[in-house]
Amino acid sequence: MRIAFIGLGNMGGPMASNLARGGYELALFDLDSNKVDAVRSTGAAAGNQAISAATTAAEAASGADIAFTSLPNPKIIESAALGEKGIVAALPKGAVWIDLSTNNLECERRIRAAADACGIDFLDAPVSGGIEGAAAGTLMIMVGGDAQVFARCKPVLDKIGNRVMHLGPHGAGYVAKIAQVVLCYLNSVALSEALMLGVKGGVPADTMLGIIQGSTGASYVANRYGPAILDGSYDPGFALGLAHKDMALTLELAGSVGATLPMCEQVEAVYKKAVDKYGFDQNHLMAVKLLEEQNGT
Ligand code: NAD
Repeated sequence: MRIAFIGLGNMGGPMASNLARGGYELALFDLDSNKVDAVRSTGAAAGNQAISAATTAAEAASGADIAFTSLPNPKIIESAALGEKGIVAALPKGAVWIDLSTNNLECERRIRAAADACGIDFLDAPVSGGIEGAAAGTLMIMVGGDAQVFARCKPVLDKIGNRVMHLGPHGAGYVAKIAQVVLCYLNSVALSEALMLGVKGGVPADTMLGIIQGSTGASYVANRYGPAILDGSYDPGFALGLAHKDMALTLELAGSVGATLPMCEQVEAVYKKAVDKYGFDQNHLMAVKLLEEQNGT
C-alpha cells in the first residue's frame, strides 16, 4: 500500500512517523522541507527506505492508495485539494483521501463533491490527543463517511490512534471534533478565572491549583495545563491561532445548526484578542496570559 501524507507539522509529523515506523511506503509533502526530512530520518532509523519527498501535494498524491492531510485551516485544505494541481485530481480513481485536520462542514461539502466527481472516497477524520498522543500513536480519531470505506482504512488508522471511531455520515467527524475541543478552551479560561480569583483573594496559586485538581472543579485541563499556567512554561505544541480557529469554527457550526452558545462567543473574543496581541504562533495558553495581564496577577 502506498500512502501520501501532506502537512507534517506538530501533529502530521509524528503521525506520519508512526506510519513510517509501520513500514508503509510513503510519499511526503510539506511546504517546509525540514519537516519532510525529519519524518524520512525517523523512517530510515526504523529500516524503512520506501519514503520519498514530493515537491507538491499532487506529486505526493499521485499513485497513492490513501492520502492523508493534516493542515491548518479550511482555506489551506481546500486550496491543496482542488484545482488541476490539487490532491483530488492527482489521486487515482478508487483511492481514499482522509483529512485529519480540524475543518468545517462547508469545506467538507466542497471537497467531497470534488472527490465524488473524480471517483475518490473521502473520510473526515479529525483527531484529539495533542502532540503527545500523535507521537505515542494514541490519538482519538473521529471519522465521518462511508462505513465500508472506513472499515477498509481502519488498519492504517490504527497505526496513528488507539481510539478510532466511525461516528456516522460525512461531516460527523468534524462536528464531534469541534463540539469536543471547544471544552478545552472554555475550561482553560474558566481555570484561569478560578485561579485568579483565589490568588486575588489571598490563596497562593499552587495551593489554589491543588484545591481545584482535587475538587469538583478537577479536569484534564487543570491537570495538564494548570502547572504550565502557574510557571508560564508554555510548550509550542499547539498554536494560539489554531485555537482561535477552533473557536471560530465552533461559532460557525453553532450558526449553521441553530445553537446559541453565549459562553463560546465570549471565549472566542478572548482568543481573538490574544492572537491580535501576541501573534498566531504563540502557545494557545497565551489566552490565559491575556486575562492575567488584565487582572494584574
Ligand atoms: P502545524 O502548524 O504545526 O502544522 C501544519 C503543517 O502544514 C506545517 O508543517 C505547514 O508547513 C504545513 N502546510 C501549511 N500549508 C501547506 C500546504 N499548502 N501544503 C503542504 N503543507 C502545508 O499545525 P498542527 O498543530 O500540526 O495542526 C494540524 C491540524 O491538526 C490543524 O487542523 C489543527 O487544528 C489540528 N489539531 C492540532 C492539534 C495540536 O495539538 N497541535 C490537536 C488536534 C488537532
